Amino acid sequence: MLGTVFDIKELAIHDGPGTRITVFLKGCPLRCLWCHNPEGLDAAPQLAVKQTLCVGCGTCAVPCSHPECQPYGRCLHACPNGCLSVKGERIDSDTLATRLRANADVLALLGGGITVSGGEPLMQADFVCELAEKLSGIHLALQTSGHASAETYRRVIGHFDYIMQDVKLADPQLHRRYTGVDNTRILENIRILRQSGKPFLFRVPLIPGITDTEENLRAISRIVEDAPVELLKYNPFAGAKYNTVGLTYPLPELRNRDEDFTKYFQNATIA
Ligand code: SF4
Ligand code: SF4
Repeated sequence: MLGTVFDIKELAIHDGPGTRITVFLKGCPLRCLWCHNPEGLDAAPQLAVKQTLCVGCGTCAVPCSHPECQPYGRCLHACPNGCLSVKGERIDSDTLATRLRANADVLALLGGGITVSGGEPLMQADFVCELAEKLSGIHLALQTSGHASAETYRRVIGHFDYIMQDVKLADPQLHRRYTGVDNTRILENIRILRQSGKPFLFRVPLIPGITDTEENLRAISRIVEDAPVELLKYNPFAGAKYNTVGLTYPLPELRNRDEDFTKYFQNATIA
């Protein structure tokens, strides 16, 4: 089965227990305004252009016969400034599993494993399940928004040892306004996760003025109760990659607030 991957991060230390390799799968049904991986939103491979280095010389606009260049109408290899790349690689589960397994012994020694992230991995649920089966014996973690059918959610988390589940906004209308979808399915899947017996972690992004309000954090604390929570500070460089894939970062400049947000939760840490 083929999947689409847009990045593989080696030696990740914030993506689950121990030291890990994180695989980022392309495609996400949400559009969180603060998303710092815009190249992971679209499900298909796409052209990226480093606009800051492009001098508009037109050298890439030459006719070329490379098969990999044909979908993009430019020669990916012609740019003298190295501006052009494709975000997203179509890869079969065997090849990806073999690549990931190469360092399995080292990851085990470091108390880690492999994390599947995105984008939203549940968008490629069949591929994720097949990949997980081929990685059996390795500690597997999943990072997810939880926006999928209950059947898909249940099926995918069944293949993983550890689930990192986002909780962004408790209010359905605010969730829709800031992420593009309401949170009905997410809240249902959180209930499924709690009943699954799987080790898990809730992750709450602290977006100034959007998710870090007292009202939202108190409401989320009622959802997560005494479960472990990781509060994620806003990434001030979240907008850095938007223009490379033809998008505009939708938020103004924001600053993390200097407040102890762990006080709203029974069992929270800040990352
Ligand atoms: S060759 Fe490179 S610098 Fe020239 S127009 Fe194409 S992307 Fe821009
Ligand atoms: S769920 Fe994650 S990948 Fe998807 S838009 Fe939100 S922040 Fe980006």
